[in-house]
Formats: sequence, C-alpha cells, structure tokens
Amino acid sequence: MGSKNRILIIDDDPIARAALEMLLETESYELVFAVNGEEGWQKILTLKPDLVLLDAVMPGVDGFAVCQRVRAHAQVRDLPILMVTSLEDQDSRLKAFEAGTDDILPKPYNELELKTRVRSILRMNRFRRLLEQAERLNRLAKYDELTGLPNRALLHEQMTQWITHAARQRQVFAVFYLDLDQFKQINELLGQNQANALLQQIGRRLNECIGAGDMLARLVGNEFVVVQEARGKLDEQEISAAVEDLLSAINMPVLFGLHELRLTACAGIALYPADALQVEDLLKNAETAKARAKAQGKNQYQFFTAQMNFNLIQRLALETQLRFALEHHELRLFYQPLMLLQAAHPELLGVEVLLRWQHPERGLLTPEHFIDVAEQSGLIVGIGEWVLEMACRQGKIWHDQGLPVRLSVNTSSLQYRQMSWLNTVDTLLTLTNFEPRFLELEITESLLMAQDKEQDNRIVVLLQHLRERGIRLSIDDFGTGYSALSYLRRFQVDTLKIDKSFVSEVATDPSDATLVQAIIAMAHGLGLQVVAEGIEEDAQHGFLKNAGCDVGQGYLFGRPQPAEEITPFLQKHFAYQKAHEVSSFPNEPE
Ligand code: C2E
Ligand code: MG
Ligand code: MG
Repeated sequence: MGSKNRILIIDDDPIARAALEMLLETESYELVFAVNGEEGWQKILTLKPDLVLLDAVMPGVDGFAVCQRVRAHAQVRDLPILMVTSLEDQDSRLKAFEAGTDDILPKPYNELELKTRVRSILRMNRFRRLLEQAERLNRLAKYDELTGLPNRALLHEQMTQWITHAARQRQVFAVFYLDLDQFKQINELLGQNQANALLQQIGRRLNECIGAGDMLARLVGNEFVVVQEARGKLDEQEISAAVEDLLSAINMPVLFGLHELRLTACAGIALYPADALQVEDLLKNAETAKARAKAQGKNQYQFFTAQMNFNLIQRLALETQLRFALEHHELRLFYQPLMLLQAAHPELLGVEVLLRWQHPERGLLTPEHFIDVAEQSGLIVGIGEWVLEMACRQGKIWHDQGLPVRLSVNTSSLQYRQMSWLNTVDTLLTLTNFEPRFLELEITESLLMAQDKEQDNRIVVLLQHLRERGIRLSIDDFGTGYSALSYLRRFQVDTLKIDKSFVSEVATDPSDATLVQAIIAMAHGLGLQVVAEGIEEDAQHGFLKNAGCDVGQGYLFGRPQPAEEITPFLQKHFAYQKAHEVSSFPNEPE
C-alpha cells in the first residue's frame, strides 16, 4: 500500500548492518543506515523513517539515549523502535524498555523472528496512524472549524448522554439558545473576516463565562447553545442570572481598530425535563423561546412556555394557508366611508380599503388574525400589491359611475423596503387607469423610524416620489407608536389619523380630550389634514367636530362593507352633495 516503508538501521557494527540488510532484502523495504547514535538521531529527524532498528550498545550516544530523545521529541515521539540487544543481557533489556522501545530484538538474529517482528510493528504503526486520522476526521465532524467549539452533532451526542444520566439520577438541567442580534448587518459592515474574528471572540467569552461542567456549542452562523450541568433542582433566579451573565459577556465592547462595537444577543431557555425530554425538542423549544425574545427587541431572554409551541404551530399553519389565500381567491376588500366633519351634514370624502380573508374553515377573518403573520413571513408584500391593484380597479369603476371616491389604502413598512415599490405603484396606477390624486397611502409610524441614516434617506426620497405623482400620504394609528413628532418635519405627509384608542374616550376622559385637541392643533399647524378613526357615538362625533377635526371614520357613519354593498351608500351621498352643490372632494385640508 502506498510507498515503501522506510527502515532506519542504526548500528556501529558493519557486520550487523550487513546481516540486517541481507535478511530484510527480500521484503520490499527502503533501508537506510546510520553508523552511530548521533547520525542516527539526525536521520530520524530528517528522514522520518517508519521504523528504527536500534543497536543498544554503541560508543558515544548509545541506543538508550537515542530512544529517550525520540520519546521526548514532539514530532517523532510515536516513531516505532525495535532495540537490538544481545540475548543474555537482562540489564540492557530492562533499560531498553525504560528508555521507551516498542520491542526488543535479540542478537544474533533469527531470520523468521526478525521479519515477523518488523512486519507486525509496521502494521501496528499503520493501524495507529489510521486511528489518528480517523480521530482527526471525527474532530472535524464534531467541532466547529471557526471557533473550535463543539458543533451540533457533538452537542446532540453529549446531550443524549446527559439526558440518559439525568433521567437515571432524577436530575434537571437548562438549555440556553443564544442568537446575536443584527448579525447580518454586522457581517455586511465588517466583512466576513472581521465578522468571523468577532464570532471567535464571542465564542471565547462565552466559554469563559460558563461553568466547568457546562457545555458550549456553536450551531450555525451567529447561534450558540449552552447546556448547563445537570443538578438536583433548578432555581429560576439562578438560571436568569446565568443567562444575564452570558448576555453581558456578549455585550462587552469589542475593539475594531479605532471603533468600539457592542453586540447584543437574545436568548431562549428550555428546561429538562419540564419542557421536553428529547434533545431535538429541547433545542427546538429553546429556539422558539429565543424567537419570542427577539420579537421583543434586542438583548432579551425568555423562558419557554408550552403556549409558545401552540402559538407557533398555529402560526405556521396560518402562514401556509395564507400562502394559498391569494391564488385561491380567498382575499376580499371591504370599504369604510370617510366623512368630512366640518360640513353642515357629514359629507362623503372617500373610503378606507380594508383587507379581509374569507378563510375556508374559519370564515371571514379581519386583519388582526393574520396581518402579523403576513408581515413576518413577508407575504404582505405580495398581498399589498394585490390590495392596491384591486382597490384601484374598484376605484376606477366608481369614478366611471360618477362617484369621485378617494381611496385610502393601508400599506406595510415592508413594502417600502422593497426598491420596486415605487415601480409597482406606477405600474398598477397605469394598469388600472386610476388617477393618483384620488389615492392616499396609509403608512405607519414605524416606517419613519428607520434603522439607519441610509435607510432613512431612502425612505424620504421614496415618499417624495410618491407625493410628486399626486398620491397623498397618511400616517395611520397616530399616537400608538413612537409619537416622535420630529419626523413629521422630515417626512412630508398630508394626513394624520388619530388612533381609535384616543377617540373612544374622547368625550368622557378629559386627558384624552386634551391630547386629541393638542394633536389636531399641532397637525393643523403643520398643514396636515386630521382624520379620527373609530367614531361610534354622537358624543365623540360632536367633540371632534368642535375640536376642528377634518375627517371622521367609524361605525357611526358606516361599517366596512364589500364594494357592492357600499356602492348604494356612495351613490346616495354623492347625489346629495351634487344637489346641494358642495364640493365632494376637497383634496387639500384648508
Ligand atoms: P386601521 O388602518 O387603523 O383600520 C381601522 C380599523 O378600525 C379597521 O379594522 C376598521 O374596521 C376599524 N374600525 C373602523 N371604525 C371603527 C369603529 O367605529 N369602532 C371600532 N371598534 N373599530 C372601527 P380592521 O378592518 O380590522 O383592520 C385592522 C388593521 O389592519 C387596520 O387598522 C390596518 O392597520 C390593517 N390593515 C387592514 N387592511 C390592510 C391592508 O390591506 N394592508 C395592510 N398592510 N394592513 C391592513
Ligand atoms: Mg388604516
Ligand atoms: Mg388606524
């Protein structure tokens, strides 16, 4: 197999050397010789033989000394050595073993014995090397190359053992699933090499932070798992403290040249046996808890609860069904009237377009049941396009019937992250032949709270482009989100919609009343039209009208309805407005 085995013969006696050469001639070995201990030692280092036949007694550096040097040298320590001693010399035999020889070959040589010993020792050596190689491969298969930490395979193997042991001892343990926040951005910012160095450093920090009996593994990318040593009982506070320690270890500053970077992570905690009995289930539950922590923001942790799994399963099912909702034509649009409040009688201005899902089993669903799933799965982008197209088609039908309805269409922040959104809007307006000035896009405050400068600028430009087309922009649910008014200067919008949570108490709660009055005054100061949502009672309507609110929306005027049901309402109102010659469409506030 492969190249010939190289045997180094170190012997000061030329006759002994010749004898060995002759005896081993028939075997296909490569034989090399050294005539004293020193030369032998040098050849061991340079020629890296597979086996040394070493004479014990030599002048100068003798065989025992060579043997000792070999065993003390890291690179050749495992070299097989057969020491040659004369048969009677018991003392030398003992000394040879002490010096570290693998075996002893008695002089004078017995041909058969010599050949067998040499062959078997070489075979053993090859076997040992194969073992080492297998071990190296094993290491590669079980350890993460970047950080040197155990990988998922080894984690799985060890956790399986821990579980067996813990079950027998009635012990418990905690599993922490850690995930660095915003690592994708960091990766882009630093580049792969620096980001890798960062991961290595995080790995080292976590390693220093865990207990001696704990295990740390890296799964993929920016995900680490810590399994705490099993114990008799678990203390929630202790576990929390341990997780907080890990999170703060991650949060310590990292220096990159002149820059200081502070990372955060989120963690999910699952407990054995309370949360799961199997390795994969424990990891899955810890990961689920981690996802829940992430949803709450950066630097958070969460204990797993069974409810999470239930929610997760439901969500997944819902997401799958929602994927098909579009192609199965299960989505519907409802329309709710928007009324001008400052006229003598409330006049119709337009409608808000509201999405519904005709679910095959659960019936008609309002967005609260699926809009989160649509957002988180990204499905909202496709759905949003469909909504805009269908709404504009319907709007065009109304316009053609002489009903100059303004459409307010809800949009998700996700749609504005898409570079193609502007294009989509243009295409759909052209396709449906709907006049842009009759279109209002409702956006949420979260869109205006961009993550970074670049994104911020992009959104400013995008909104500008939309307004240049005559499309109006409206901030929906004003007051529920960030309510940082400063953005209203930077982002030009036309309308502000006061959330219904303020409207509901406006006639009964003085502080809500004051707040709503202040919002209206401020919005007017900025030249914005104000819409109040969720008007259900006359008292609310009266208050808002007095406070100068421009537009009202709510069950008091009309519920969301399908197009065919709301059309008669639109016809009636526009006919009235026409008869009394009031402008039905003041596109601008004042
Ligand atoms: P929103 O944009 O704030 O819509 C107003 C919500 O208030 C609607 O709920 C409407 O039915 C409800 N509403 C109107 N008047 C009253 C009232 O007098 N009393 C009460 N209690 N509620 C009233 P809906 O239709 O369930 O929609 C909920 C949210 O879902 C919307 O809130 C909007 O944020 C989102 N949404 C709806 N359609 C779409 C869509 O096509 N795309 C996106 N991205 N989001 C949508
Ligand atoms: Mg809305
Ligand atoms: Mg709203």
